[in-house]
Order: sequence, then C-alpha cells, then structure tokens
Amino acid sequence: MRLPSAPLVLKDDPSVLFTSAGMQPLVPYFLGRKQAPAKRIVSIQKVFRSTDIDEVGKDGYHQTFFEMLGNFGIGDYWKKEAIQWGWDFLTKELGFDGSTLVATVHTSDDEAYDIWTKTLALLPAEKVFRLGDEFNFWAPGPTGLCGPDSEVFVDKGPQPGVGPHQCDPSENCGRYIEIWNFVFQQYDRKPDGALVPLPKKNIDTGAGLERMAQVLQGVTGDTYRTDLFQPLVKKIEALSGKAYGAAKDTDLSIRIVAEHSRAATFFIADGIAPSNEWRGYVLRRLIRRAALHGRRLGMKPGFMPALGAEVVKTMQKHHHELTSSRDRIAEVLADEEAKFERTLANGLAMLTEAIDRAKAERQTFIDGDTAFRLYDTYGFPIEMTREIASGSGMTVDEARFHEQLEAQRSRSRASAKFTQDAMRFGQFYAMLKETEAIKSEFRGYEELATDSTIVSLVANGERREEAHEGTDVELVLDRTPFYPEGGGQVGDRGTITTDEGRALVADTQTAAPGVIVMSAKVVDGVLRLRAPAKAVVDEELRRDTMRNHTATHLLHATLRNMFGEDVHQAGSLVHAPNLRFDFTFGRGLTPDELQRVEDEVNRAILANADVHSRVMPLQEALASGAMALFGEKYDDQVRVVEAGPSRELCGGTHCHCTGDIGLFLITKEESIGAGVRRIEAVTGVGALREVRDTREHLVRAAAALRVPAARVPEALAQLVEARERLQRELETLQRSGVEAAAASLLAKAEAVGTAKLVAANIGEGDVQQLRALSDRVKAGIGSGVVVLGGVRGGDPFLVIAVTKDLVAMVDAHKLVKQIEGIIAGKGGGRPESASAGGKDAGRLAEAIEAARSAVRERLNGGRDRN
Ligand code: ATP
Ligand code: MG
Repeated sequence: MRLPSAPLVLKDDPSVLFTSAGMQPLVPYFLGRKQAPAKRIVSIQKVFRSTDIDEVGKDGYHQTFFEMLGNFGIGDYWKKEAIQWGWDFLTKELGFDGSTLVATVHTSDDEAYDIWTKTLALLPAEKVFRLGDEFNFWAPGPTGLCGPDSEVFVDKGPQPGVGPHQCDPSENCGRYIEIWNFVFQQYDRKPDGALVPLPKKNIDTGAGLERMAQVLQGVTGDTYRTDLFQPLVKKIEALSGKAYGAAKDTDLSIRIVAEHSRAATFFIADGIAPSNEWRGYVLRRLIRRAALHGRRLGMKPGFMPALGAEVVKTMQKHHHELTSSRDRIAEVLADEEAKFERTLANGLAMLTEAIDRAKAERQTFIDGDTAFRLYDTYGFPIEMTREIASGSGMTVDEARFHEQLEAQRSRSRASAKFTQDAMRFGQFYAMLKETEAIKSEFRGYEELATDSTIVSLVANGERREEAHEGTDVELVLDRTPFYPEGGGQVGDRGTITTDEGRALVADTQTAAPGVIVMSAKVVDGVLRLRAPAKAVVDEELRRDTMRNHTATHLLHATLRNMFGEDVHQAGSLVHAPNLRFDFTFGRGLTPDELQRVEDEVNRAILANADVHSRVMPLQEALASGAMALFGEKYDDQVRVVEAGPSRELCGGTHCHCTGDIGLFLITKEESIGAGVRRIEAVTGVGALREVRDTREHLVRAAAALRVPAARVPEALAQLVEARERLQRELETLQRSGVEAAAASLLAKAEAVGTAKLVAANIGEGDVQQLRALSDRVKAGIGSGVVVLGGVRGGDPFLVIAVTKDLVAMVDAHKLVKQIEGIIAGKGGGRPESASAGGKDAGRLAEAIEAARSAVRERLNGGRDRN
C-alpha cells in the first residue's frame, strides 16, 4: 500500500518538532497502538532535519528539507527480502552501477553480513564494512524498540588529499555518500539494558530522493546540479548575477538560499508561521539565513516571495498543498523578509556598538554573549560576526559563544527526551494490552458516572497490586466515563472510589487504542487491583467543557460561512474555562465582523437544534460534506458530529442541544503569526462570569467617578480633559515660578568688577528645579557666576554655573571639587557647569559661602591681573 506523505508536523504527535523520517508517521503501527492498514507499506515522505541546518551549503548533499523514499514491513518480510528488493530497485529499476556500491552492517549483525556477502552474494566481503553502535544501531530512545541497521553508500573512489590511507564510510573523507538506510527493528531494550527479541519484527528503510537523483544524473555529491534544484538555482543566478560554480563563497550562499527558501515554502504550506518559539522559530531562522545570504549575493531585498513562487511552480504537481497555499507563501515570505530587513540594521548597530565598547575598554575581542545574541536573535551566523569583527581588527570570544550555544542545545535535547517518555508510555500500555488483554470501554458519551473494575494499577512505572494514600497512580478501568484528551478537548478530571479508598483523577489520556489511562492521586485509604470502583467525572468541569466544544464547532462553521473555504482550523483548545480557536486568515477581523461572528453563533445557539453524532465510514462522511481537519489522520470508521449549521469529524463530547451552550461571547481576537489568527471565547457559566466581571468593573468605575453607570464614558472623558488642562496650567505656573525666583535672585546679584555673582540657598527643592533655576539665572546674568544650594530629603546639593567668558578664571568643576568636602559629598561636571550632592545639610550655608568667597577672590584676582 502506498501511503501519501504526512505533513511536516504530525498532528498525532505534538511532542515531535518535525517529521524527520518516513517511519515517523508509522510509529503507532510499529508499536501496535493502531492497526496498520497493510503489512507492506511504501511512502514518499517529506521530512525536515533541523540537525543538518549547519551542513547546508558546506556540502552539496545535506538538505534540511528532503523527500524520503521508504518501504516498510510491519511484522512481515525481513532482512533478506529487504536487502534483495533494495538492491534490485537500485540496480535494475533505477540503473545504478552495482560495482560503485558498498554497504555497512552492525558488528553484531552476522545475519545481515552473510546476506550481503554469501546468501545473496551481492557484494564482496571487502565492500561490506562492520561498524559499531554509533553508525549502525537505531534506537530512538534509551529503552524500547530498536535494532541494527545496514546502510548503502555510493563510493566516489579515492579522494584527492586523503593520501594513501583509504578511508571507510565511518570517516568523513567525502569518498562515500549514503543513499539508503535499512533499519531492522528486532529488539525491545529493557531498562537494565537487556535486548529482548521482538515477537513481531519490522523493516523500516529510508532513501533520499535527492541523493538518488545526484547519482543517476551524474552529479554525485551535488544536489544543486540535479533537475530537482536547477530551476531554483537558475532563478537565483538570474536575480543575483552570480553563476553557480564560479567561486567558493558565492556557491555556499547560492546553496543556502536555494535550500532554505525551498524548506521555508513547505513549512508555510503546512501551516507553520514564523515566530520566536518552537517550530515557528526554525522557520524564522530559515527565512533569515536565506535572506542574509541573498543579500551577500547582491540580490535586491524582497526576493524571497519570487523564490517561493518558483518552488511552488516546480513542485506543486506532487504537493498540492503548495498550490492551495500559494498566496499565503508569498505573503509570509515577504513579511518575514521585511521584518528581517529591520532587525538586520539593528543587529549591525548592536555589533558596531560592541566593537566600539571593546575598543574603549582596550579589548581585542567581542564578548561571546553579544555574538550569541546576534546569532540567536538577529540570525547573524557566527562566521559573519567573526568576519565583520575582523574588519576592525577584533576576534570573537567563541568559547563563550559555544558555551551559550551548548546551553541552548541541551534545552532542546530536554524536549527530545519528552518524546521518548511519550513513546515509552505508549509502548508500555500497548504491551499490556497484548499480554493481558486489558482495555477500557469509553462510556462518557452517555453517562458521567460508571460502575467498573480496576484492571491495571501502575505507580512509578511499575505494575502494582495496591496503592496507598499519597501515591500517584495510573489507573485503567474496564469501563470509564472519563474522556481522554483528544481533538483539542482536554482529558476529564474527577474521582474514583472503591470500598476501601478514593483517588482524585487529574488527567486522562489514551495510551494505546482502547486503553484509557487516568492519572490520579490516592487521597484516602487504599486502591486494589480488580476491586470494583465507581468512576465519577467532575460534572461541572465536563459540562463547561462540552459547551465550549460544541460552541467551537459553531464558531468554525460560522467563520467558514462568512469568510470562505480558505479558513482552516490551525489548532484548538477546549477546556472548562474557555475555548481557543486558531485558524488561517490573512488579516485581523474588524470589530464589526467580530460582532457578526458572535451574532451568528448565538443565533445558532438560540435555534436550539439537537446535536447528533453518528459513526460512519470515512468516505461517506467526507462525501456528506463533513469537515475534516487538514493533516489529521482518520480511521476508516469515523464519528460525525452535527450541530446546527456545523458537521464535523470529531470524537469529543458535546451538548445535547445547541441551546445548552448558553451565551457565547468572544473575549479576544489576535494574531499568533503571519496568516494565523486566534479567537478566544466563553460560554455558559463562563459567559455569565464575563458579564458579571464587566458589570462589576463598571459599577466600581461609576462609584469612583460618583456618577451613574450610564454616564461613566462621558465623565471619564471630562476627567481626562480636565487633567490635561490642569497639567498645562501647572507647567505654566512652574515656569513662571522659576521666572519669578530667577528675577528676584538677579535683583540681588552682587557686582564683582564687571561680573556678577549670585550665591543663594533656596532651601527645600529638587535638583531638576535647581538646575532650571540656575540656567535661568545664568541666562539673565550676562557675565557672571551662579552658586545655588538646596536640600532634598535631608541631603544637600549644590549647582554652580559660570558664563563662558569667565571660565578661564572660574572653573565650575574645580570649584565643586574644592568645596564638596564641606557637605561630605561628591561632585563633578564641566568648567561651565557642575554640581555636587552631599550628606551634611547642616554645612550647606558654609559651603555656599566658601564658594562665594572663592569666586570673589578669583574674579578680583583676575581683574588685578588684567
Ligand atoms: P548522513 O550520514 O548522510 O547524514 P543519515 O545517516 O543522517 O545520513 P539516515 O538517517 O539513515 O541518514 O536517513 C536515510 C536516508 O536519507 C539517507 O540514506 C540519505 O539518503 C537521506 N538523507 C539523510 N540526511 C539527508 C540530508 N540532510 N539531505 C538529504 N538526504 C538525506
Ligand atoms: Mg545525518
């Protein structure tokens, strides 16, 4: 059976960043969590590997985005068939020259070694290399599914510069290029490290389309010369005027621009929007790195949409999602490139500043934190920072840079570990299901309380006979009313009670098909395996959740009604407090449109239509016009929920009639990235709460304003206006206050020769005021010196100002330094103006006097000298 490519983002597995191999969408089949549609499967899967991003450009055969051809056997054919068919496909179907091929196998895998060299005798012994775990053992996690693999390489022959030493495929000498990997999933690794053979073994193979094309088109090692990339490369050559193959640095840039613009185009088609976190961040990096290298090639900014269009044109025949997202691709690329254009300038400014700072501090290097921030936030590759810095004779503290980078990497490894835990959870219960036939019937569509029996009890990852008060447990019941998280709706909470004890359920998940696991804490007594139990869902939470779920369907239908079929659900969260609905749409909704959406949904609620659900074959459901989610995978039998104008594939729990929802209110509408909007809303009790809160705010505002609620807007407008008027009056008064004070000080100025001297203590005030006053006095004094002192919060301060013509005789800065000691303070400034703050307010008058006589003396002395 040929399966279509799954999207780059797997909806079933939100913990995985991107689909990175053909096997990934099939994981539920390998684990036995889902019934595989066939035992023999092939696919052409689009994949993305962020781990290879730094390789891109350096060589010609690592892309981040590529297409992986794979064949899979689920408990069916084994090594001999897989190798034979792979070899035949290469040499007979595709026309590879078998004498150029070599293979690797794991040191422990005699079986595969013998198949290559003896049983099938496809390769002589010297062309089959036996390598260790690092190269030929596949294990997605520390425990669970794993096995040896065998890889096929094209041998390009001895490489110049490698010398007489002939390398093997484990070395990075450029001689061998991997084209196909055959993974033999044959073990289950136990926590103690033991490898237990699996009863049902799987085959998982992966071959890069791009690598095959290189060899077949005679350009081994350079994907960019294949017909897969040539149209895009030609476009870049035309836009930049640089020829591919002309120089090392421009080649690097051309490859990066071509590869990243292709990957970015596919990201956008799969609904990802640039942002600063998670998947959106990777997209941002791709676009910015392409934009940066495009500029290095001399391309005129604004070229990204043209490259996206080229990718759509050449690849849409096999990837229809490109056709339907064509407009959004252009929009998002243009938008992000324009944003980068702005940060580019900021980043360069930041770097210039760092260079200046380093120079001022007589350092010869740029600090690593700055380099990392440039890399991380502004998308400046370290190579570029290094290059610009070296232009100013500086190096970069790369040790610190790498320390930061490593810290970031370990953060992302932590999130990879989460995937392993999720896989572990699934595998554990899939196994239990198989060995002990445990399963649970979901009763939650019909009832909220169910009599049942505990069929599995797990604490700390181990099966238990009993669990005592205080223990965190995972429970499986033979029948359960608890809804397991799915379709955006969160898992139910509630209680499970037996004769001897009670547990509070915090979350419910599906661990394997038909196995519903409740995570709970025993809060009373003890729970025992096989004990009869009463499972009761928290009714209030569930009813609120149901209202929000049915309302989500009405909202979805309304949006599509109003804005057309281009509106797609891009994510949803349904829980008790509110609902959150993300959808693809190119602009914000106007207040008017939001109100219309709200009106439409409420109209559907008031029509009080019955909500029906029916299980039917997928084809029939789709033919009846039921909405399916983009990128979601469905079983053959699906549940269709009909509520008023909406008809949607959904496994969630819903109200009986639309009227049960109560009032629907939109509380927020916002952008969560280019082309994706988010609406948040409340229903039922939540809506009542929302209205109450708003009313309460209004009542409090009215009380504070001392007006009836209806007059609040008017009263508030008046208040704001009055405040602004008062502010203006106050400023005028302050100005005239300074004027008046300056005038009175000037009137009292004493003459010292031809100059004037104002020295005064103005008492309580602040430095700002004193400065303003001193400026004013200085401006009116003609030629002279101003010495003003004041006190703020018990501390004294002094301001001294000297008109330009006198600075040769009286230097304000020197004068402040001379008297700062008197007020136990510290001062500074310039010859024309200086100030000091101190601690001893008691001696402020003395300080002013000291300044006064010093000034007199100098001015007099000056006159004498004249
Ligand atoms: P390599 O050692 O070349 O990085 P890999 O060991 O990472 O390859 P696998 O994980 O075994 O590769 O992936 C299966 C196949 O996918 C490879 O045999 C190769 O044909 C292809 N492939 C892997 N990585 C890339 C890439 N970055 N760009 C293009 N094709 C790739
Ligand atoms: Mg690799």
